[in-house]
Amino acid sequence: MGGNTFAEQKKQLLQQKQEIEALLAKVTHQDDTFDEGFVPPPTHGQDDEAERVVDLEMGVKTRGSLRVTLHEIDEALQRIEEGIYGTCAACGEEIPEARLAISPASRYCIECQRKHDWNE
Ligand SMILES: [Zn+2]
Repeated sequence: MGGNTFAEQKKQLLQQKQEIEALLAKVTHQDDTFDEGFVPPPTHGQDDEAERVVDLEMGVKTRGSLRVTLHEIDEALQRIEEGIYGTCAACGEEIPEARLAISPASRYCIECQRKHDWNE
């Protein structure tokens, strides 16, 4: 124990960050188009139309949640730099590595996460 630099988690976080930033850039671009009075292209049938609506709804949802996730990843990376990564922000207990492996941006132990019903 001790001397854990969380190199693996850092790698994961940086990779996730890249992916999210790429997605966010795409979604944000779509949204800008809407602000300028975007007119959806004509569809070829009902099926296409239904699909497009689903896509738009997902886009809106995704944008907000992507920003939240990106923020969490940034915070986690900062905690690695500060040497406080892997410690619960609420109770100060160590966060099990198994949990960090699944969810590297976690800032709470399972106990606190459950207690406060915070979202991952
Ligand atoms: Zn805790």
